Amino acid sequence: MPIQIGVLALQGDFREHSEVLRKLGCRPVEIRKKEDLKTIKGLIIPGGESTTISKLLKEFKLNQNIIELHKKGIPIYGTCAGAIVLAKDIHNYPKQPSLGLINISIDRNAYGRQIESFEENISIRGEKKPFPAIFIRAPIIKEIGKNVEILAKQNGNPVLIKEDSILVSTFHPELTEDTRIHKMFLEMIKKAK
Ligand code: GLN
Repeated sequence: MPIQIGVLALQGDFREHSEVLRKLGCRPVEIRKKEDLKTIKGLIIPGGESTTISKLLKEFKLNQNIIELHKKGIPIYGTCAGAIVLAKDIHNYPKQPSLGLINISIDRNAYGRQIESFEENISIRGEKKPFPAIFIRAPIIKEIGKNVEILAKQNGNPVLIKEDSILVSTFHPELTEDTRIHKMFLEMIKKAK
């Protein structure tokens, strides 16, 4: 039986994440209600629009259940908007609610309009081959707590980080053919078991 991994499917590019998970031999489970969370061993929060995802999390009453999942030690990976949703502190006005599961402060749409979207090869800790990172109206991680590990940087800013069972990237590996970041997440899941 393939390992089941949840992909929050309220808004954003959850289909692309599901596709990568399938490629890696896992079974993606689209998450829209709390019952969907029962059998999963990991959860991905996709890219999209963080304000919408946060709003829908509240409407679908999923916030507390995801926090409970985290307390059980189930790994969670957030990409871009997903990273924002997981952050402890979001620089935004009016104040945007978040799950607050990783100790970082993050600035939305921080690359400005001209370069809202770009691709750049970045180097990942422990990897020889560069990773083609796609940034789409990406946030910038401004501050990190002392237990947050930096796994990759772009232009001096952390773009791939990890704190215990939470992984975050401000770019979109699900939009490339390179599956290494998802594999990294699968390793976290294997270790968590
Ligand atoms: N700009 C979006 C936000 O603030 C994130 C963009 C993305 O997920 N690619 O939520």
